[in-house]
Amino acid sequence: MSRIATSIELFQQGNKYIPGGVNSPVRAFKSVGGSPLFMKSGKGAYLHDEDGNAYIDMINSWGPMILGHAHPSIQEAVKTAVDEGLSFGTPGRREVEMAELIVEMVPSIEKVRMVNSGTEATMSAVRLARGYTGKEKIIKFEGCYHGHGDSFLIAAGSGAATMGVPDSPGVTVGTARDTLTAVYNDLKSVERLLEENRGKIAAIIVEPVGGNMGCVPPESGFLEGLRTYCDRENIVLIFDEVMTGFRLSPGGAQELYGVSPDLTTLGKIIGGGMPVGAYGGKKEIMSLVSPEGPVYQAGTLSGNPVAMAAGLAMLRELKSDELFYDRLAEMTGKIVKGLGEMLDDSNIPHQINQVGSMYSLFFTGEKVIDFSTAKRADTRRFGMYFHGMLEEGIYLPPSQFESVFVSGAIGNEEVEKILQASAKALKK
Ligand SMILES: *Cc1c(COP(=O)(O)O)cnc(C)c1O
Repeated sequence: MSRIATSIELFQQGNKYIPGGVNSPVRAFKSVGGSPLFMKSGKGAYLHDEDGNAYIDMINSWGPMILGHAHPSIQEAVKTAVDEGLSFGTPGRREVEMAELIVEMVPSIEKVRMVNSGTEATMSAVRLARGYTGKEKIIKFEGCYHGHGDSFLIAAGSGAATMGVPDSPGVTVGTARDTLTAVYNDLKSVERLLEENRGKIAAIIVEPVGGNMGCVPPESGFLEGLRTYCDRENIVLIFDEVMTGFRLSPGGAQELYGVSPDLTTLGKIIGGGMPVGAYGGKKEIMSLVSPEGPVYQAGTLSGNPVAMAAGLAMLRELKSDELFYDRLAEMTGKIVKGLGEMLDDSNIPHQINQVGSMYSLFFTGEKVIDFSTAKRADTRRFGMYFHGMLEEGIYLPPSQFESVFVSGAIGNEEVEKILQASAKALKK
């Protein structure tokens, strides 16, 4: 019998009732092949599947579990909140505490609105930027992901066309027309779009560290350049920090790189494992959000007390430990260094990109700086490495184009296991 028999069985059952058997596509293992694992519990650095196998978790729920699984102070805060009732549909004390804490930790945010996911945050931020500037088009970057809002599921038009085209059935040509796509780390491509659409761009939205084409850091001057263009042309600069917020530093990528956006979108870590997102920024812009201003945005369960309890406990933990981010980056550095030495001794083409506790191993000999260079990586080899690691009890993101997220629960013992597993998996 297969050692993952229960997962296989559940996946077959799930496929009968759920599209593709999953509630979010990347979980289905499509790009690496095989049957996805059904996880039952997590504790610290480890996940346990339905068949009782244990894995060192290197996804951590795609970021949120930065302290590892079932962290005591977060579990405790949630239990307390649950005992008080699940939802009231009224304002609550925790929402005010949460907003205050976010404003304190992320200096560019003066006012903030809570929502229920990263997708909601980016959708709302773009609407707000349009309402504020009175302009309609936005610029995004190829390979960046901003959730599944219609305005973001847009591919670059071909040839000289600067208009976008729908990247999913169901997205209208009308919507696609308003999203322009530039090349990550390429300011010239942005300048071209600005010239061709003078006076029409409401916002530039960017992942300040690319995390959804694998980990791709901003080159020096890139974020600063975007800031300059936005200042010059009255464009709202949106940093989508759904992934990088509270991950790369207490104040996110904007603190790390010293570039301040007008609006920031947050998600993932901010909910401590519960479904939470947020968008915030300059008072002048945020004051346009309803009911203070005319830009409509609402949510029945937004600021939910249980979700706020988890998020608050998470952010308080992160804020209270000044050396946390240095330790996390150092631990990640040990993995990256070990992998690098191993691969340098092999004849396998490779590039490793790392920023803090995010890293990606790309199977390509070329430097990865944008989506085209990322796409030239050998995804078949990645699939082999992924499955090799899984057999050794290491759970990597099931795609070449996702970043690894190291948690604070990973210690020297786990790093050793990850490197030993890699040595075996890379020989296959
Ligand atoms: C995950 C992610 C989103 C979407 O967040 P959801 O909570 O999945 O809707 C948006 N932007 C970035 C940068 C992300 O990594």
